[in-house]
Amino acid sequence: MEKNGLLIVISGFSGAGKGTLVKALLRKYDNYALSISMTTRAPREGERDGVEYFFTTKERFEETIQRGGLIEYAPYCGNYYGTPRDYVEEQMALGKNVILEIEIQGALKIKKKFPESLLIFVTPPSAGELKRRLEGRGTESAEMIAKRLARAAEESEGIEAYDYIVVNDDLDTCVEELHRLADAALRAPVRSQKLIGEIREELQGFQKGAD
Ligand code: 5GP
Repeated sequence: MEKNGLLIVISGFSGAGKGTLVKALLRKYDNYALSISMTTRAPREGERDGVEYFFTTKERFEETIQRGGLIEYAPYCGNYYGTPRDYVEEQMALGKNVILEIEIQGALKIKKKFPESLLIFVTPPSAGELKRRLEGRGTESAEMIAKRLARAAEESEGIEAYDYIVVNDDLDTCVEELHRLADAALRAPVRSQKLIGEIREELQGFQKGAD
């Protein structure tokens, strides 16, 4: 199997429970690493700089774009969000499957830049459940909830661009499903080019020996 880990993009409607899901996956298996994004959004209560996000200003965000420090970025509900390059490259080289928890525009950019990445879309069982979860979170104003629901409607148009869809109903089941998908993806020939190359080369060597 390749030493290089897999790049896994996890998207889903705001309130789909992606964060909880990814945290549970990281707790259970040690071959994953979570990329921490940079954002210009203000921290929510309880969020810490360098843990949930690297919180920054619009100016510093733009500077980071200029020097090629992000592998993708996108605006979302009035703020910028982006994925810092260094951590992703370093962890993949260590053989970790790196998870990017990002929205759809970023996901599409990643697929274009890294065709071997795995794109997974997480959704609650229904739109009604999504609305209940957003309201239940209690961290967002009614206006922000409406914005996020409108954005979900837009994002639902893009789901077909993903490789797999996972319904987040039961957390443990969902964690296992994600892990199985990542494991299966690593066995696809397109992601095993190094192994295939080695086998071919060795077989050719045998042929030469037989000539
Ligand atoms: P929130 O404000 O709820 O933390 O995040 C809003 C949206 O931005 C979510 O859909 C989240 O997945 C997405 N997001 C977080 N980090 C990034 C990033 O680095 N790039 C992109 N494109 N989207 C991100």
